[in-house]
Amino acid sequence: MSQRLAVPEPTWEIDTDVVVLGSGAAGLSVALAARPVRDVILITKDTLAAGSTQWAQGGLAAVLDPNDSIENHVRDTLAAGAGLCNEAAVRTLVTEAPTAIRYLSRLGAAFDPGADGGIALTREGGHSHDRIVHAGGDQSGAEVQKTLDESVRLAGVRVVEHAFGIDLLIGINDQGQRCVAGVRVALLDENGDVESVGDITARAVVVATGGFGQVYASTSNPSAVTGDGIALALRAGVEIADIEFIQFHPTVLWTSADATGQQALISEAVRGEGAVLFDAAGERIMKGVHPQEDLAPRDIVAAAISKRMSESPAGVDDHVFLDARSIGERFATRFPSITAACLAAGIDPAHDLIPVAPAAHYACGGIRADLDGVTSLKGLFAVGEAACTGVHGANRLASNSLTEGIVAGTRVGRALSWSLPITVAPGLDERTSGLLPAEWRAELRSTMSKHVGVLRSPNGLLSARNTLERLQDKVGSDVIATRRSLEATNLLTVAVAVVAAATARTESRGCHRRTDFTEALPEWQRHLLVIDADGTIVAQ
Ligand SMILES: Cc1cc2nc3c(=O)[nH]c(=O)nc-3n(C[C@H](O)[C@H](O)[C@H](O)COP(=O)(O)OP(=O)(O)OC[C@H]3O[C@@H](n4cnc5c(N)ncnc54)[C@H](O)[C@@H]3O)c2cc1C
Repeated sequence: MSQRLAVPEPTWEIDTDVVVLGSGAAGLSVALAARPVRDVILITKDTLAAGSTQWAQGGLAAVLDPNDSIENHVRDTLAAGAGLCNEAAVRTLVTEAPTAIRYLSRLGAAFDPGADGGIALTREGGHSHDRIVHAGGDQSGAEVQKTLDESVRLAGVRVVEHAFGIDLLIGINDQGQRCVAGVRVALLDENGDVESVGDITARAVVVATGGFGQVYASTSNPSAVTGDGIALALRAGVEIADIEFIQFHPTVLWTSADATGQQALISEAVRGEGAVLFDAAGERIMKGVHPQEDLAPRDIVAAAISKRMSESPAGVDDHVFLDARSIGERFATRFPSITAACLAAGIDPAHDLIPVAPAAHYACGGIRADLDGVTSLKGLFAVGEAACTGVHGANRLASNSLTEGIVAGTRVGRALSWSLPITVAPGLDERTSGLLPAEWRAELRSTMSKHVGVLRSPNGLLSARNTLERLQDKVGSDVIATRRSLEATNLLTVAVAVVAAATARTESRGCHRRTDFTEALPEWQRHLLVIDADGTIVAQ
């Protein structure tokens, strides 16, 4: 039986063909491609640019250099994915990526030009060739967001901001199959309080709500990225896959143990300019760990930092330090936005050590779907970081995610233009479940950062599970629905799913690292599904 969250009864209803949840690269691409022939409503719980898309720095991966090839990009993606990519999905993504870039350009995206007058291409870790398209230097995501925002508005998509997708409405079709009939939505005021609850009935619901970085206290993701779409899918009995594979960025600015929200990335380029990592006792972290020392690959640096933090040098177990003082006064001109973030936290990188910690950055798993968004529930489509299409496998190749959002989003929108699922009336019985008071968010998030981060030990996973079980006891049907409490409840659901999957996967592969099973094992070269089986989340 599906569950739905305890919110006030709906007071309004709207009907449409397609409802899209989320306004990042993925959701906007769906809406834009479906709109010419469908009535499309796009709801987003904050303002249009509140998701991760706006913050993407590096760019979008696509083969545009004649010296590069589709095969090279496929090979690099499969290598990063550590045996768990779906090769057919990778091949489709990579083949359609150049078209996606040309499409964005024609919509008006101003990508940085190269010396030959074409689009400039750069290289990132894991790519064998230059194939990263960027805009405004490190403003690539913002350019994509702006371009799609304008295009969607011009195309006549009905956009509703401050509208929170709560739960799916489910009905039964003629063959007795469960189908999506729409989505329950809360309209929020500027404080995040619920103004009204209503139902949008639709032939197709598309979840494009992004990842779930906010499940962690340390994250590069903005505050809107709370895994809502994955949680609502779990409540509806939809399959989630590979959720244990979370990519951690080795260095975000650490400000305090109680820091919430998004944390500024301190890019690899700072280490590229000579900065060096130290622990709180003044010992170097990367010396002897990897031949490239502080410039080792991201996952190696993140793991080394986490290991050192777990040893609590000088009593400090939640951050380490980056010494960039050798860069001196040049730091401010070379890294203006990092300088601004540091100064805002009272740190002058030219003279002070920068406190840093690894942070949740990208969710490789999510709602199991193909590149056309099709999920295990009829009428439900998933796309972008909320989906698990097999493109990223156990680890994402840098800059493949924005490309995936555009390619898969456009495919889903086009498919829905051609044909819509049948109409079903909502009305399946659902069990109501209560909400977690928002005050427990901090404990949940710090538990996940401490115990289910880069390195996962059996004791840590058990401790996290115990804390989450205790938090599940705080869930109450009398808790008032607000954006914060709805998100807290979703964070808890996703955290339980991550812990279940990370506990079940007794190996280390891609970005999932266990201290007790340090190698990848052949018997684990398979996907792990997480489902909600009658109110209990299980990994299988
Ligand atoms: C700092 C940073 C740098 C990055 N750099 C790169 C890069 O260089 N290249 C790259 O490819 N990737 C990069 N990534 C990853 C990439 O940005 C994301 O994977 C991608 O933007 C996800 O797009 P999306 O549309 O799936 O989700 P998002 O852009 O996160 O959008 C999700 C949307 O859903 C909305 N939403 C969430 N919950 C609800 C709800 N309950 N109801 C209604 N709406 C909801 C949000 O408000 C938001 O509009 C970076 C990420 C970060 C955080």
